[in-house]
Amino acid sequence: MVLAIFTFKLLQDSPCLMLRFDITIIANCNRSKTIIMLTARRLRYLIAMKINFSLLVALFFCFPSISFSQGSDVAQFDHLDGKLTLTPFLAVFVDPGKSLSIDDIIKPEFADSFVASSVTGTSFGFSEAVHWVRFSICQAGGISDSLLVEVEYPLLDNVSIYIPDGLGGFTERHSGDAHFFSTRDVMYRNNLFRIPGHGGDTRTYYMRIQTEGSMQIPMSLWTSDAFIEHVDNSNILIGTYYGIMLLLMLAALIFYFKIRDTLFLSYAFYLLSYIIFQFSLNGLSFQYLWPDSPEYTSRLTTAFVGMVIIGGLFFSGSFLHIWGNRHPRVKWLFYVLMACGLLSSLMSLLGDFVLAVRIAAISGVFLPPTVIIAIWSSLAIGYRPARYFLVAWCLFLCGVFGSALLYLGFLPHTFLTVYAMQIGSTLEVLLLGYALMDKIDLLREDKENARELANSYLIQLNEKLESLVAERTLELSESNKELKELAVRDSMTGLLNHKASIEYLQKMQKYAHRYGHDLSVVMLDVDHFKRINDTYGHSVGDIVLILIADVVAKTLRESDGCGRYGGEEFIMILSETDVKDAWKLAERMRKNVEALEIEEIDGTSLSVSLGISIFDPADPEANLMLQADKALYNAKNNGRNQVQVYG
Ligand code: GH3
Ligand code: MG
Ligand code: MG
Repeated sequence: MVLAIFTFKLLQDSPCLMLRFDITIIANCNRSKTIIMLTARRLRYLIAMKINFSLLVALFFCFPSISFSQGSDVAQFDHLDGKLTLTPFLAVFVDPGKSLSIDDIIKPEFADSFVASSVTGTSFGFSEAVHWVRFSICQAGGISDSLLVEVEYPLLDNVSIYIPDGLGGFTERHSGDAHFFSTRDVMYRNNLFRIPGHGGDTRTYYMRIQTEGSMQIPMSLWTSDAFIEHVDNSNILIGTYYGIMLLLMLAALIFYFKIRDTLFLSYAFYLLSYIIFQFSLNGLSFQYLWPDSPEYTSRLTTAFVGMVIIGGLFFSGSFLHIWGNRHPRVKWLFYVLMACGLLSSLMSLLGDFVLAVRIAAISGVFLPPTVIIAIWSSLAIGYRPARYFLVAWCLFLCGVFGSALLYLGFLPHTFLTVYAMQIGSTLEVLLLGYALMDKIDLLREDKENARELANSYLIQLNEKLESLVAERTLELSESNKELKELAVRDSMTGLLNHKASIEYLQKMQKYAHRYGHDLSVVMLDVDHFKRINDTYGHSVGDIVLILIADVVAKTLRESDGCGRYGGEEFIMILSETDVKDAWKLAERMRKNVEALEIEEIDGTSLSVSLGISIFDPADPEANLMLQADKALYNAKNNGRNQVQVYG
């Protein structure tokens, strides 16, 4: 928004800019009445502006009463006062043709054409006409120290003072930002002239002022001491203002580098552009930044108007969350205006300056409503921080309107009006800074909530993981168990396999030896099994083997071990069993197999031979398996289907 109005300063550079208007002062001959005619080239804009202005005036500024007295008195300057406001003592003559010189102006016929500033005021709005100012000074008390005349408005292009030499002639001095800063009488941001003292004499001074921007001629007369004091005090004010702005900018930058949120970068950029722009308005840019480039003053100021437009929109958009997809139309409006700001900045520096000013002016005019729309749509979706923005923006608008009223000539030159924009912008940026801090609090809360949420998720996840691990561990141990079982079991019969049978026997043999228990081993072999395979096939042979294994397992006690020793041979390890019990068991087993009726072999008789070996504590290392096998061999040789004991 920022300087919609301020672009007025530059409007004169374009001959057909829409907001340009002139104030023509026509004084009638008997000086009893003055008519101020305001002519606006685009009246409709002016009417709209005036409505706004009047409201603001009613709210924030008070008009001093303007007395309609005529003529100007001699300014009686007392050195003890230090300062005298010259405004009531000025008389103004407007020369729209810009053709008159000091020699013409001092002619008697022009003497009556000057109108007292108590009638005209010292703000003349945007006027390209040459304004001649006349004032007379009498130094009271006959003191003849030199004095300072200050024109308290730094943006005037050409300011010349004609200092009377007391002999009817004049010495001319120049100032204004159309001249090199170094050529000034006194190196000060405002236009300042040193005039010699002239005791009790009354001398009349003339000034010729011409500018393409706003015509402001607030003037004061100072003693050197009082001026130094004044500069000291105002420097504190100005320094405080720029200090606050710079500190905020630095804080925003630090926050940006700390939390990498572009909102803070946009705030810093906005502040920077605004600081430089405000610097220009105070005459400080010309004094410190480009004192040797008076020809670029206007171009640079316009470029900064563009930067302020971009910075303001960038920050507003970031703050109000315009860059997402929630406000697509507003977002495009922002993009267009930012592009215009950029274009005007680039063009004012490198291209068609007149066009650049136009673009800046149009963007500046559209900026406030655009931001208001953005605030509105942000509030509409319940984004609460937008309220801060609304208040801050209004404060700033008040400041800008106050300044605008001053520059347009509707308000007098007072502390409030001169510093309206600075006051407004300070309040604005402070409030926005507070809003940002508030936002940091929100972010911190969000972060805390997110951390808590993440923690609870983590705890849940851990619990899930732990139960999953426990589940998997159980599954694994079960499948390990199964694998171990598989490793020791014969897949067809489910009995211990050959290797496991041997290991089991060795273990039981040691156990029997250590505790002095009995131990018997029974070896079983199916008689003429080959015939079954040959007669009914190998698969029927398998069925028969499975059924015999079943008989073996069922005939044994739970504490006994049994395995498939190989092919159709089975082994039984009978703990705490002596030869008698082993015999009984072997016999029972033989009979059980004999009694088996197997459908697949059509009642073919089935028998087994068994050999028994007994653990002898005197020979604990004896090969019981081999001994049982030998007994089995005997059983076979004795005609099969019987039990034999080794030894
Ligand atoms: P003997 O009375 O002397 O023991 O005669 P046999 O026929 O039972 O003994 P032999 O050693 O001559 O034959 C054993 C047969 O057992 C030979 C082999 O084909 C068979 N056999 C070994 N393992 C299996 C098996 O897993 N399934 C089947 N169906 N047959 C097997
Ligand atoms: Mg055999
Ligand atoms: Mg056999």
